[in-house]
Amino acid sequence: MTTQPESYSHQYLDGSPCGLPNGKVICVGLNYTAHIEEMASQPSVEPMLFIKPNTALVPLADPVLIPQDLGSVHFETEMAILIGDTLSQCSEQAVLPAIAGIGVALDLTLRDLQSQLRQAGHPWETAKGWDGACPVSAFVKPGKIADLQNVGLTLQQNGETRQDGNTSHMLTPVIPLIAYMSRFFTLLPGDVILTGTPEGVGPLAPGDQIAVTLDTLLSVTISDIRNR
Ligand code: ZN
Repeated sequence: MTTQPESYSHQYLDGSPCGLPNGKVICVGLNYTAHIEEMASQPSVEPMLFIKPNTALVPLADPVLIPQDLGSVHFETEMAILIGDTLSQCSEQAVLPAIAGIGVALDLTLRDLQSQLRQAGHPWETAKGWDGACPVSAFVKPGKIADLQNVGLTLQQNGETRQDGNTSHMLTPVIPLIAYMSRFFTLLPGDVILTGTPEGVGPLAPGDQIAVTLDTLLSVTISDIRNR
């Protein structure tokens, strides 16, 4: 029998609901130089965007389920932004007031499948958008963070630090990134933005103990990682 993760809804750190629907997840790849190097990728001229459907959203909490027979699943720790107002082809000035929360997410990636798709020149949607591919924490209110571009992000795996980044190293910072996204995709209340991963990504395995932090604001431990 398979245990499904609890169903997801956006909530604040104090447990109160954000009152926003589960929207789409708009992500940017290759937004930190050291991660571009570890992926042997080339920097993109413009932000490289992709989308996970809302069915990818699950709580960043126990259990995290790993698909079987699809190769390795890599963690990518990313600052997540919850959108509270509609943004369409918006100015940078419009972005900050539309942010409803800040959290941390894992952009879970079927890395072997992604590599195969990349080599074939195909889109990598299945490697990024599968059910459960976007575990998201509770959100802190925007006023709790003084500077979106100076936020620490860490991931520990079985007590070893794997990722230890800071949003100051983003190639496209959060505000211009969201304005850019809104040129292509209307952002709706309840949508989530993933802002890219620092270096240190790697495979998850059943039985791993994972601890993720966003600065001193958020700390999440996952001790039940298993095959789906
Ligand atoms: Zn990512």
